Amino acid sequence: MKKLLTVLVVLLSVLLIAYVPPVLRTWLTSTFGELRLGFWPHFHMGVDFSTWEGNPKIGIKILAVDDGYVDRIVIDPDDLYGCNIVLSHKNGYKTLYAHLSGFSRSLRTSAGADISTILQDFVNRYAVSKDVWKEKLKQMREEGKKEYGEAFEAFTNEDSLYPLCFKDGWAEKPRRIVIKFPKGEVKVMQGQVIAYSGDSGNVQGPHCHFEVRSQDEKFSYDPFSIYPDMLKWIEQPLREDIVLLKIAINGVVYDYSPDKVYEFSGDYPKIAVLAFSKYVIRGDSYRLGLRSLSMRFENSSSPMYEIFFDRIPMDEVKKAFSVYDEKLSSLRGGYNAWYDLYPKGDVSVVKQSDIPRFPNDSTVVITLGDYFGNEKDFKLKLRRK
Ligand SMILES: [Zn+2]
Repeated sequence: MKKLLTVLVVLLSVLLIAYVPPVLRTWLTSTFGELRLGFWPHFHMGVDFSTWEGNPKIGIKILAVDDGYVDRIVIDPDDLYGCNIVLSHKNGYKTLYAHLSGFSRSLRTSAGADISTILQDFVNRYAVSKDVWKEKLKQMREEGKKEYGEAFEAFTNEDSLYPLCFKDGWAEKPRRIVIKFPKGEVKVMQGQVIAYSGDSGNVQGPHCHFEVRSQDEKFSYDPFSIYPDMLKWIEQPLREDIVLLKIAINGVVYDYSPDKVYEFSGDYPKIAVLAFSKYVIRGDSYRLGLRSLSMRFENSSSPMYEIFFDRIPMDEVKKAFSVYDEKLSSLRGGYNAWYDLYPKGDVSVVKQSDIPRFPNDSTVVITLGDYFGNEKDFKLKLRRK
């Protein structure tokens, strides 16, 4: 009996800490901190999970990764994030699920009202032109509040509110609605279906973009540092490797070779690397952004330059070119993001920036780390011209 209890306790604790990813049967197609050039150059503030059923799919179930409640629902196919939902959790973090096609009927207010029906009702009732919108807004808020209670009281940013949409239904632009729910009003359980995958917003195809933010939403975190168990649940790649494909010294591009001696002039070489984590799954090859990059002299153990994508302040989202090389990076025809390994302005993912004047001859070691916990060293021989 005692043994059975122990087994039960162990089983329960495993179940309690095993955070599921937001999609079942999924793998990673993008990582935290990657370079994005759509809209404006910015850091990728979350990770992307495939939504796959033979093809990238609309309508795949999106699950809550943790217990909590709905903070807000945003309906806006033209926004970077498209239609999205934000949950708030006991551990002090919020999670965001983006590019959705719809929301689950299982989301209910404390009085039992079905959120998706309420949203559809709002679509039907308030699908008006932009000109009429502002006049309707006041009426809408009053009616909504009367009918559905406090759940509809706190609309944000009046000026940005336009009629509700689901990708195909509405011709008027721009269209945006933000519904903020009172704390605890719409509860969710870990693993509960909260929404359905889609391709709303700035996307190449259907997938689920997932973020972990601080409660005040001033920071976005590497989701796997907050919910490491998710990594165990996603489909593991057949092959993976950390690749350093090319190197640039003071803007001149070379193939990388550990045997070659690279020449530089000035106090130190301005080194940029075209590097990524390569990952093969179901016959397709993906290039994912790295989690860490550091550079040290071969005879030293402490890095002179170090980038670590642990968290990014929201007000640094557009500072991607403080880390990535603006001239060399191009995301056309694959993920070709170049990391600059020299200081270009303050950004908090750069943890160490203390590059001394280089000796005439030196060997540096560049250590690259991926999101699966692997690290790989690359040696670089340098000589002053
Ligand atoms: Zn994304």
